[in-house]
Amino acid sequence: MNKRWTISKINDFVEKNSDSKLLSTEYHGFSQKLLFQCACGSQFEKTFTKFKNNHQRKCEVCQPPKASR
Ligand SMILES: [Zn+2]
Repeated sequence: MNKRWTISKINDFVEKNSDSKLLSTEYHGFSQKLLFQCACGSQFEKTFTKFKNNHQRKCEVCQPPKASR
């Protein structure tokens, strides 16, 4: 199933599923990094795939990346 995301759907998802805000106003595909603003005020870039599937929904200060081991 190939779900098509638009910037407004993503914005909706971000609002409902995280404390972050979406700052990007265009969406061109899964490989594109989107700009978010964390609840702490920091801005961070992440692909929507990571945001959604890997639950990386905060900046690296609030949610440090897990060590890969
Ligand atoms: Zn933060």
